[in-house]
Amino acid sequence: KKTGLNEIRKEFLDFFKEKEHLVVPSFSLLPKNDKSLLLINAGMAPLKPYFTGAQEPPNRRMATCQKCVRTGDIENVGKTARHATFFEMLGNFSFGDYFKREAIEWAWEFMTERMGISEKELWVSVYEEDDEAYDIWNKHIGISHDKIVRLGKEDNFWELEVGPCGPCSEIYVDRGEKYGCGSESCKPGCDCDRYVEVWNLVFSQFDKDEKGNYNPVPHPNIDTGMGLERIAAVMQNADSIFDTDVIGRLLKKVEEKSGITYGENEKKDMSIRVVTDHIRAVTFLVADGVLPSNEGRGYVLRRLIRRASRHGKLLGIENDFLNTLALTVSELWGEAYPEIIERLSQIQKVIKVEEDKFQETIDQGITILNEYIQKIIEEKGNILSGEIAFKLYDTYGFPLDLTKEILEENNLRVDEIAFNNEMEKQRERARKAREEGDNQAWSKDSTLEIDSTLKTEFVGYTNIDFKGNI
Ligand code: ATP
Ligand code: MG
Ligand code: MG
Ligand code: MG
Repeated sequence: KKTGLNEIRKEFLDFFKEKEHLVVPSFSLLPKNDKSLLLINAGMAPLKPYFTGAQEPPNRRMATCQKCVRTGDIENVGKTARHATFFEMLGNFSFGDYFKREAIEWAWEFMTERMGISEKELWVSVYEEDDEAYDIWNKHIGISHDKIVRLGKEDNFWELEVGPCGPCSEIYVDRGEKYGCGSESCKPGCDCDRYVEVWNLVFSQFDKDEKGNYNPVPHPNIDTGMGLERIAAVMQNADSIFDTDVIGRLLKKVEEKSGITYGENEKKDMSIRVVTDHIRAVTFLVADGVLPSNEGRGYVLRRLIRRASRHGKLLGIENDFLNTLALTVSELWGEAYPEIIERLSQIQKVIKVEEDKFQETIDQGITILNEYIQKIIEEKGNILSGEIAFKLYDTYGFPLDLTKEILEENNLRVDEIAFNNEMEKQRERARKAREEGDNQAWSKDSTLEIDSTLKTEFVGYTNIDFKGNI
C-alpha cells in the first residue's frame, strides 16, 4: 500500500499518465492573465483558458498536482482536521474528451485498487438532479443506494452568473464514529470530521446564459480535485492532515522550537497547527514572488506571517523563528517543489524582515495599551472599551487575546461584546465589498478591488478576505 505523501502524489500522476493524460508540474500560485482570482485555489484555475476554449490545450487529457492557497479557509485551520490555507490538489482534466463515466470509473479505480481503500469506508454524493451520475455510481460501479447522497446546489453544483457550469459528484471517506458529531443526521456533507470529502468531480456540461437557461454544451469538460493531504491522512489513518508523515515532521519542528509537547493542551495544539500551516503557505507564496504589503496577495502573506508570529508568541517562542522554519519546509517539500530550495535565502530574508516589523508594531501597541491601562487605574475603572481594543487590533495588529492577557495582568478586562460588535461591523463592510468567497476556482474574487480602499494609513490587520480572530 502506498501511504506516504510523496508516494501518493506520484501514484496519482502515474495512474493518470497510464490513462493517457499529459502530466505537467504545478503552476505558480500567482494567476496569469486572470484578474478575477487573487491566488490559485484549485487545480483547474491555471487551466481555465483550456476549459473556455480561449486556448488550445497541449493535450485533451491532463493531470497535475497543483499548489493551492485558500485564504477563505483560514478560520478552519487548526480547528477542523482537514483544512489548510496551503495544500496540494491532485486533479485530472478532460477538455472535451472523456466525460462522466470515465471520470467516475477512474476515480473509483484509483481509490479502491491503487489506494486499496475498502469500499465499506467510501460514500459518494451527486447533485440532486443528476440521475446520470447517480446511475453510473449505482448501476455501473455498484454502490448501494444508501451510500449515495443527493446534495443540493450549494454543495454539488458549480456555477457562476453565466458561462460554463455543471453538477459535481464527491467521494467521501467515513473516518468512523469517533470523528463524528454524534448527530443522527450526520452524513456526507456534514461539517464534522467523520465523512471527509476527499475528491470532487466536476462535470461541466452546461453553458448558462443571461436568462438563466442551462444550455448543454457539445463537448463537456471534466475537472476534478483531490486534496493530497486529506488522502494521505486517510491512508495513514492519521487523526488530521497535521498528523501525516511530511506535515507531521514540520509540526514536530514547531513543537521543538516551542518546547511544548503536542497533544497536551488543546489551545497550544491549535497554535502549533496554525504555525505549521501558515509557515508552509508563507514559504510557497514568497517562493512564487509574493512580498508582504497592505494590498492583495501581499496582504494575504503579511496576515499569514503575523498570525503565525502571534501564535508563536502564544507558544512562548521568541520572535525570530519563522524564517528558520522556512528551512524545514524547503527540506521537506523541496524535492517536489525545487523553487523553495532555489529561493530559500530570499524567502528567509523576506520572512525575517516581516517578523521584525511585526515585533515593532506589537511594541507600539503595547505602549499605547499601557497608557490606557494607567488611565483606567487612575479612574478606578476595571474595563477597557471594546472600541479601543478594536482600534488596537485593527490599526496596530494587536490581537484581542494579547490585549486580554495584558489586561488580566493588571486585573482589568475588556468589553468583548463591544469588541465583537466592532468586528462584526467591519466584517459586514468586508462582506458587502465582496461578491463571493474565494473558495470556488471560477468565482469572481473581488478582493483585488476592495484592497484599493485600504491603501492609506494602514499598519496592522484588517479584514479583507479574512474573518475572525488572528
Ligand atoms: P470542504 O467542503 O471540505 O471545505 P471543498 O468542497 O471546499 O472542501 P473543493 O473546492 O471541492 O473543496 O476542492 C477539491 C478538494 O480539495 C476537496 O475535495 C478536498 O479534498 C481538497 N480541499 C479543499 N479545501 C481544502 C483545504 N482548505 N485544505 C486541504 N484540502 C482541501
Ligand atoms: Mg465541500
Ligand atoms: Mg467540494
Ligand atoms: Mg471548502
